[in-house]
Amino acid sequence: MNKEWIYALPKVELHCHLDGSLSTETVRELAKMSGIIVPERDEDLKHLLQVEDDCKSLGEYLEKFALPLACLQTEEALEYAAYSLIKDAAKENVIYMEVRFAPLSCMGKGLTVKQVTKSVIDGLNRGYKDFGVKSGVLVCGMRHTRVERNIAMLHAMKDFLGKGICGVDIAGNEADFPPMLQKEFFEEARKLGLPITIHAGECQCANNVHDSILLGAKRVGHGIAIMNNPEILCEVKENGIGIEMCPSSNLQTKAVEDMKHYPIQKFIGEGLCVTLNTDNRMVTGTILSKEYELMVKHFGLSSKDLIQITQNAVNCAFTDEKSKEGLHKIIECYH
Ligand SMILES: [Zn+2]
Repeated sequence: MNKEWIYALPKVELHCHLDGSLSTETVRELAKMSGIIVPERDEDLKHLLQVEDDCKSLGEYLEKFALPLACLQTEEALEYAAYSLIKDAAKENVIYMEVRFAPLSCMGKGLTVKQVTKSVIDGLNRGYKDFGVKSGVLVCGMRHTRVERNIAMLHAMKDFLGKGICGVDIAGNEADFPPMLQKEFFEEARKLGLPITIHAGECQCANNVHDSILLGAKRVGHGIAIMNNPEILCEVKENGIGIEMCPSSNLQTKAVEDMKHYPIQKFIGEGLCVTLNTDNRMVTGTILSKEYELMVKHFGLSSKDLIQITQNAVNCAFTDEKSKEGLHKIIECYH
């Protein structure tokens, strides 16, 4: 197995943030649309959007979202951003992708929840037409926001549930705002029939993973903290919870100390439903193929392992059975 094999492998990505995954080229275009001045040199622009290798904390990581978010405040920009992300993912043979974003962060210039959501879905649909990548939107409520506001957001996008929107999550500061604070938000999502994934266990707190399962999550974002908690790890396994692992990002935000301690082999060995993802293609400076390569390099994962990881992602994707069958067929044909 070589680099070309990994790039050509049809891949599935379940954890990718729209605002953190826009290329310098896309951000330049978006900035132009919004009248925002950005540095002329790509290198300088990149510095505003991407963390350095020696990123010190999650706080430093989050600073890199300021510029893309400032650009994502019009319908035109949101549509173009979603379209461009699909275009970029298609270049490395991603065949299905769940794109997440927080509508409440894109309303600074007066757009409604409905306008914001429709624009992103339109961009993804245009991406599908041009590049054949299927996708869905994971809508993120905000952790630090009053739960009523997150619930109202869900109601405002009722027209798109199951028609573009494939599930929900919450974004923001996990350490200070654990998932239980948004209990009613997740209850409402369940009532509306929306599958749930929750960012949990990124900040050393395994209990947030346990709580996420209680809240109805079928997948967790990161989940790293369960590596030191056999009981919760067992609970994750017994409930067939998908783990959205994002190695480079986890290293940068200090969810793990170093790559040596990254628990992917442990999780695979324990029989967990492991998937690989980028988290934020631009902020982290990665693409999905790079994350696969990294795991081969550090842990000797085989082509069989990588195919299994891709099949896991299909199995726990928030899409219908017929679409899953289609994705499985494409992957089967490759090997
Ligand atoms: Zn994330």
